[in-house]
Amino acid sequence: MKQRRWFAVVILATVGSASAVAEVCRDADLLLKRGHIVTMGEGGTISETMAVRDGRILAIGDGDALADCVSARTQVLDLEGRTVLPGLIDVHTHTMEWVKSLVRGEIDVGYPSVHSIAEIEQAVAERAAALPPGQWIRAAGWDDAKLTERRYITRHDLDRVSPNHPVYLVHVSGHLAAANSAALKLAHIGKDTPDPQGGVIERDQSGEPTGVLKDTAMGLIETLLPGDPADINVRAAKLISEKAAEVGLTTIHDIFISSEEMRGYQQARDRGWLEIRVQMSPRIGSIADAEKLAQMGVHTGFGDDRLKFGAAKMFADGGMGARTIAIYPPGVIGEPNNLGVLRWSPADMQKAHFIAAAAGWQLETHAIGDRAIDEVLDSYAAVIQQLGLKDHRFRIVHAGISTPAVQKRLEELNVLVDGNPPFVYWIGSWFAKYGPERVRWSYPAKSYIENGIIEAAGSDVPVTPISPWWGIWAAVARKELESGQVLAPEERISVEQALTLYTRNGAYAGFEEHSKGALEPGKLADFIVVDRDVLHVSVDELKEVKVLETFVGGKKVYERPAETRK
Ligand SMILES: [Zn+2]
Repeated sequence: MKQRRWFAVVILATVGSASAVAEVCRDADLLLKRGHIVTMGEGGTISETMAVRDGRILAIGDGDALADCVSARTQVLDLEGRTVLPGLIDVHTHTMEWVKSLVRGEIDVGYPSVHSIAEIEQAVAERAAALPPGQWIRAAGWDDAKLTERRYITRHDLDRVSPNHPVYLVHVSGHLAAANSAALKLAHIGKDTPDPQGGVIERDQSGEPTGVLKDTAMGLIETLLPGDPADINVRAAKLISEKAAEVGLTTIHDIFISSEEMRGYQQARDRGWLEIRVQMSPRIGSIADAEKLAQMGVHTGFGDDRLKFGAAKMFADGGMGARTIAIYPPGVIGEPNNLGVLRWSPADMQKAHFIAAAAGWQLETHAIGDRAIDEVLDSYAAVIQQLGLKDHRFRIVHAGISTPAVQKRLEELNVLVDGNPPFVYWIGSWFAKYGPERVRWSYPAKSYIENGIIEAAGSDVPVTPISPWWGIWAAVARKELESGQVLAPEERISVEQALTLYTRNGAYAGFEEHSKGALEPGKLADFIVVDRDVLHVSVDELKEVKVLETFVGGKKVYERPAETRK
């Protein structure tokens, strides 16, 4: 790795009324010294000292170069050689959804909490025993690929342990759920219920529902679930802020959220509970949603450095775990006719995209299968041309099966990818269902860099854990959890490249490269102190990195308790 050291002190140049004037560095609020500051600026700079004032970086240098920045009021932080990185950015989370399931006390049926359907049945039986009949039992996080039985949970499994309580268990992918007979009955789902557009009611040989509901079919149950307490969203936003800061995320994008959830974020911000920065991505599930969004009169970027509107989010297809991603033939292994689902007709998708983009919204659309990605790119191409957009930064969320043909189009259209490095580890076992050729092009990273495609990174929490260190490690190692196999080793990238996905590229995807993504004078003082030199540790250590301190706008918002620092 080539590192360029700065021997000169870089001083923040403030723009005066007539000309740019180099301001003298003095009276800093905070000075970091004796650090190993990985700035993530162009050229891979490492620096030793950094001055912060009014929430922004004032100057960066080496040795005693910033001595003049210090006054009696300056707080000095001696790093004793510890590593500092820019605050990390996750452009694809469902943190509200995840944290609310914790707040509601839903049963955790995810790996590694449970390992079999038998264990899930036991947990449901215990909950049923503690609740009056008729009350809902909810759980989230199960993954058939990590259960001993290696199959979906059905109503028969759940009826045995919960005949009198409706049960609804959401899969880790978020693209399917298992319901028991009591829940199906409440939703009037029977043999004759047709599949909704973009969804599947799974059926057995005799045509009876198995209890497995995929994609939009989940809505048949979800509209019946009991309402949440009024303050759940604001409480969730507070918890999100804490959980993000703890793992080193200083900016998250919360995707496909409702108006109540946006209100929760704003209330948390008003109360001073939101210590990290959030981009909120409103949902577009219909043309009417797009029209409503356009009529609001605000668009992407509205807000401030703490809380703002991000891109408008749509879904084109389903999930790999539900086997509903839209692919070209051949179909899923063992289900040759399964080419997945498309949630929109091409004409409607383009209409919704056009309405939102014309109103100033950046677009991000979930598309995992190559057929879905093509549909989205067709629509993006038409909208970009119709509106004459130059710096649109439209995003494909996931782009799971990113073949050379897909990548060529991404590059030509200048479309960004919200990739998911941790998927290779946590859910890489799902890729095999789509055949070896598709495994080769599943969630690539190296070829994006080679083809000039900008990828930012997302955990998609709760699909994978919130900690970005899983993704940074997985981008470098590409090891799959169960087999330990390296998937598409050609797509492994370096630690520095992986960090770029979580810093500079995340800032770019959110139109924030002028204020975030690198530690440079003038940018926001969002940074983290970690417990090891991440550029020089062994690959497998990357997933064990501990964040010691997190700063947002120069303010310490997290400090690891002494007993867990070592
Ligand atoms: Zn998602």
